[in-house]
Amino acid sequence: MKKILIVGQGIAGTVLAWTLQGTGQDVYVMDAPDHHTLSASQVAAGIINPVTGKRFAKSWMFETLFAHARACYLQLEAQLGVPIWQDLCIERMLQQPEELNNWSLRSHAPGFSDFIGDATPMAQWKKFAKSDHLFGRIQHAARVRFETLLPIFREKWLNGGRLIEQKFDYQDIEKFTLDFDLIIFCEGYRGNSHPLFQHLAWNITKGEAFHITLKTDQPLPTSEVLKKSVLIAPLQAGGYWVGSTNEWKYTDSLPSTAGRIWLEQNLGDMLATPYTVEAHLAAIRPTVKDRRPLIGLHSQFPKIGIFNGLGTKGALLAPYWAHHFVQHLLEGTALDPQVDIRRFSA
Ligand SMILES: Cc1cc2nc3c(=O)[nH]c(=O)nc-3n(C[C@H](O)[C@H](O)[C@H](O)COP(=O)(O)OP(=O)(O)OC[C@H]3O[C@@H](n4cnc5c(N)ncnc54)[C@H](O)[C@@H]3O)c2cc1C
Repeated sequence: MKKILIVGQGIAGTVLAWTLQGTGQDVYVMDAPDHHTLSASQVAAGIINPVTGKRFAKSWMFETLFAHARACYLQLEAQLGVPIWQDLCIERMLQQPEELNNWSLRSHAPGFSDFIGDATPMAQWKKFAKSDHLFGRIQHAARVRFETLLPIFREKWLNGGRLIEQKFDYQDIEKFTLDFDLIIFCEGYRGNSHPLFQHLAWNITKGEAFHITLKTDQPLPTSEVLKKSVLIAPLQAGGYWVGSTNEWKYTDSLPSTAGRIWLEQNLGDMLATPYTVEAHLAAIRPTVKDRRPLIGLHSQFPKIGIFNGLGTKGALLAPYWAHHFVQHLLEGTALDPQVDIRRFSA
């Protein structure tokens, strides 16, 4: 049995720590949330979307990652006795001829028939959306309720003496390597200032989102997401999550006026129903230039590793890659070169 410290309790650290615990390891988690800013996992909607982008491309390794994610979160749901996973479909608003053409091409392409069908004028969102659109339905989407999962583990690990509420100070790294067999850093975007992992090709991005309520007496969609330039997803507590911006240039991680205006403009293009903004949130995503996770042990300090770079897709990526990394750590199986940090030279 190894004594392992996980630094960071976002979705990456939580799923990795839980996976390691499942193999009987002696796992501790250290997390010191900043009380002035939110982590990416605290802001994210937790949406899993199989078909993305202007050309409606299938998300990388989707079938494999989705099957693993679904099994993992349903197991967590059964273990914790609370809803974590919600199967959803996405109603993609289509208007421009190019969009309709791309959609039609995809809906008849091999490998896509399980995911998308023909565009139609009918949708759950129809009476709340701008009328001059067709809707393409995307199946096999889901939402993972980070807002339920992460606080439950935080409390459980705190009560069990497994969560250390402090910021990991890099100057203490040697001291910690005497106490632990392995230290795995899951620090989200802050990994880009870790002295041992700065050389990785970070490309961190800020994202902003709203929580809104719609001003209507009509029954509202609860298991359909509406998507055009932003995504509108039902929240368990009522209301909707709306997001998000994708900013490369920013001075802080707080909600901004530019972000608010952008979200309002894009919501205005989609919704015919008035709404109230209940909250405006922002965080920085741990995105990577090649859009692949950052996983592995440090080449010179083999007790120190990283599990990060989940980018815009933490919900989908965390379970499969945590399992993959755990097999590497405990059984010595090779890491997939696509995610191995050795693809970047120190
Ligand atoms: C607006 C927005 C919308 C998004 N929507 C989605 C979505 O719908 N679906 C999806 O899958 N993904 C989405 N994402 C992306 C998702 O948030 C990330 O992929 C995921 O949350 C990254 O998780 P993480 O655990 O790596 O990092 P984080 O969530 O940032 O967690 C890192 C944790 O480590 C702690 N930490 C850092 N450094 C230290 C240290 N030195 N000592 C102690 N603790 C430390 C932090 O306090 C934090 O708790 C969205 C992101 C944003 C910003």
